[in-house]
Amino acid sequence: MPFAPTDYLPYDFANRRHIGPSPEEMAAMLGVVGAASLDTLIDETVPDDIRQDEPLNLGRAMSESELLLHMRRVAGRNKVMTSLIGMGYHDTITPPAIQRNVFENPAWYTAYTPYQPEISQGRLEALLNFQTMVSDLTGLDVANASLLDEATACAEAMTMAQRGAKSKATAFFVDKNCHPQNIALIRTRAAPLGIEVIVGAPEDLDPAAVFGAIFQYPGTYGGLRDFSAPIAALHEHKAVGIIAADPLALTLLKEPGAMDADIAVGSMQRFGVPLGYGGPHAAYLACKDAYKRSLPGRIVGVSVDSHGNPAYRLSLQTREQHIRREKATSNVCTAQALLAVMASFYGVFHGPKGLKAIAQRIHRKTARLARGLEEAGFDVEPEEFFDTITVKVGPMQGVVLKSAVAEGINLRPVGDDRVGIALDECTRPETVEAVWRAFGITRRDDDLAAYYRVPLELVRTSDFMTHPVFHMNRAETEMMRYMRRLSDRDLALDRAMIPLGSCTMKLNSAAEMMPVSWPEFSRIHPFAPEDQVQGYRQLISDLSDTLCTITGYDAMSMQPNSGAQGEYAGLLTIAAFHRANGDDQRKICLIPTNAHGTNPASAQMCGLQVVTVKCTARGDIDVEDFRRKAEAAGDRLAACMITYPSTHGVFERTVREVCEITHAFGGQVYLDGANLNAMVGLSRPGKIGADVSHLNLHKTFCIPHGGGGPGMGPIGVKAHLAPHLPGHPFSGGAEGPVSGAPYGSPSILPISWAYCLMMGGDGLTQATKVAILNANYIAKRLESAYPILYKGDNGRVAHECILDTRPFADHGVTVDDIAKRLIDHGFHAPTMSWPVSGTLMVEPTESETKAELDRFCDAMLAIRAEIDAIAAGEMDRDNNPLKNAPHTTSDLIAEWNRPYSREAGCFPVGAFRVDKYWPPVGRVDNVYGDRHLVCTCPPLESYQDAAE
Ligand SMILES: *Cc1c(COP(=O)(O)O)cnc(C)c1O
Repeated sequence: MPFAPTDYLPYDFANRRHIGPSPEEMAAMLGVVGAASLDTLIDETVPDDIRQDEPLNLGRAMSESELLLHMRRVAGRNKVMTSLIGMGYHDTITPPAIQRNVFENPAWYTAYTPYQPEISQGRLEALLNFQTMVSDLTGLDVANASLLDEATACAEAMTMAQRGAKSKATAFFVDKNCHPQNIALIRTRAAPLGIEVIVGAPEDLDPAAVFGAIFQYPGTYGGLRDFSAPIAALHEHKAVGIIAADPLALTLLKEPGAMDADIAVGSMQRFGVPLGYGGPHAAYLACKDAYKRSLPGRIVGVSVDSHGNPAYRLSLQTREQHIRREKATSNVCTAQALLAVMASFYGVFHGPKGLKAIAQRIHRKTARLARGLEEAGFDVEPEEFFDTITVKVGPMQGVVLKSAVAEGINLRPVGDDRVGIALDECTRPETVEAVWRAFGITRRDDDLAAYYRVPLELVRTSDFMTHPVFHMNRAETEMMRYMRRLSDRDLALDRAMIPLGSCTMKLNSAAEMMPVSWPEFSRIHPFAPEDQVQGYRQLISDLSDTLCTITGYDAMSMQPNSGAQGEYAGLLTIAAFHRANGDDQRKICLIPTNAHGTNPASAQMCGLQVVTVKCTARGDIDVEDFRRKAEAAGDRLAACMITYPSTHGVFERTVREVCEITHAFGGQVYLDGANLNAMVGLSRPGKIGADVSHLNLHKTFCIPHGGGGPGMGPIGVKAHLAPHLPGHPFSGGAEGPVSGAPYGSPSILPISWAYCLMMGGDGLTQATKVAILNANYIAKRLESAYPILYKGDNGRVAHECILDTRPFADHGVTVDDIAKRLIDHGFHAPTMSWPVSGTLMVEPTESETKAELDRFCDAMLAIRAEIDAIAAGEMDRDNNPLKNAPHTTSDLIAEWNRPYSREAGCFPVGAFRVDKYWPPVGRVDNVYGDRHLVCTCPPLESYQDAAE
């Protein structure tokens, strides 16, 4: 016998995938922290009265191979059909080069939002390409770098119009040819703001009665019209004209700018982003120059770096709209960066001619399809169209839809006597023939001459996408290298820890990511018939159950596409609850000063009045101030919004009391769940007094950050709020929708589900404990160099800690200098100046190993030594490695006349030598960029140097 049974090695690596420190490393770290065991540390950190008494029970954890088999089975319950339903969602071909090099590439999907421009030049360039493409296609001056979906973009455009219009009218006009989900969402957004929504045909528009109007182009039933006349009429009455346009159609059709539209919105989904049962997809919003200062979402702009070379960065007023709190114009934080990047590469990949060819091909097929139907005696509307037609079928509607399904095709039921058909890039001649057969027509798709049915006066005459980037040699070799070059400029999780407080940049494991690309998840239309989406329904319902078990809530809504959307949805749910109780007067929302900016921004979007509550010197909510303000609000108290553990990185002992006070005055407790990574398995928000929370699945539950999205912000609620959760025109419910699709962005839900299934209850709980250990380890190692701003009663921090850097101001060292110097060490900076100005907030997560934590701590300590040298006068106050950071290769090769060595500047102690990360640009000048706002690709020669 080669070995005895007692020689068998235990296999205990199941959770080692996700949890960084090994058992031996944890023991060493506990020694540093000064805790006898992990459980002792947790007992000292998490207050008794909020601990859950029974362990989290989610059944046995699955291995990776079990998980993938399980996912295959669930995916198999979805039926991949050819969906010609349209309504803003079209099948598309993701070029394999983009699928492999971007969509499935951690260098792209694990990046953070590009707040640190020096380490984000690659994705900033891709996003600038996106803006340039949108701006060109729509014929408008400025575009942002994505919104959550087309429907929310319509609503954002409405509120932009309300702010920007000189008209004093309070109503908003919506073309009845808008997609139904767009109309429904506009209604949801309008109601709490007191905006009256008028839905009608464009010819019924009374321009004097509205501050703005939105038209769909092409219309949801395929109609095309020139909106120049209604927009001119709107302008005469100082109102704003908005067009929701299909960007692919705009390659053939007269653009919104040429109709003098002020704003254009739409979805970039059909630019290579899979349907995914509704998302994630990038929406766009473009506007005339005059409106650019109130654009929601993020805008990439061009500035200069310390060498005077062009460099990209997020432009100031949109770097974070929501930092203006209740004065913010929008709560958009996480958007759809990764999907915008994919769409932008799709544009680069095809170029303007390629896009036009795709659009023409789709149009020709639609024209042939229509001709075939007409020749068989069917009544086809409209006469002229791009890719969408509506066929009158009378009482035959059911039969036609059913025969289509038998052919593997989903068509759209319109009313009870018509059928809608929208063709797309994937439509083949056989598809057209199969559609004909569904109508009882047998003919081949090769006996019809090609002809056009676009109205002559709507044919596009202007150029678009003339920038060289859209005209590069498109051999795949070049494309592959362009994508690689851009991702190499960036620092994402695949290279180093991203210790961002409150953002929980943890591992997005490969096994979790794989199912997202499977056609059974990616090629499903959001409005596909129920029996085709049983796999999705199982996934959504099981994941909801799991999240309810974890949070102690009774019901979940998967609709919100980000944390901030979750806040908005949760507050609307609370408002609907108050209304149902006849408490319409409850309009006050208490929010502590340390809240995330999206909290007050969401509250104001719900028409709530924000009352700010103080924090004590220790960083906790000032309970007396809270009580006073709740009392003053009395029966006008709608809600409070608290974050737990607090954004100060502490488990406050008073959280139950704060909830009780709120309830005593009839208010509801909104608990911002962004910090749930410190609670899973230890404490449940739904059991400590909260009524509703959003969970950031892109933080705690492993959906990658994508460079600024996608995200998912489902909300959990207690039973009494469940009837008031967001509804949807296609899935029912009493309330209106907050997203275009009924379940938000379902195609990324497999990631969070896989995480839970592979961790199990014990694994998830262990992750929480280790996240807390890692944070306390960093706090301990750094506290002598950087004061830890806030700690709990026992001197412990939660899963993150705030390092105070304000004392160094005396030596001229700012938080910016430290952040940029970290780049020389190969790190992404922690969260800067939030929630306290002049500080750094560090959240290591459970995924980082001791070695990586030590590397980070060593870097921070080396920086502290440099600060000491400045303080001691050994280093120049203005010309030192901190002030000149980050150091680039041009610094290295240029004449070196600095009072410290090249070595000290470029290779600080502990930084990698061979694997050194070189930022492509020096420190970026934000002020310059904001004074000279340039938001489309500059001419090539102006940034040749930076690109080399
Ligand atoms: C991230 C975060 C949010 C917002 O979430 P998004 O998905 O970016 O909209 C809200 N609150 C807190 C505390 C957060 O950290």
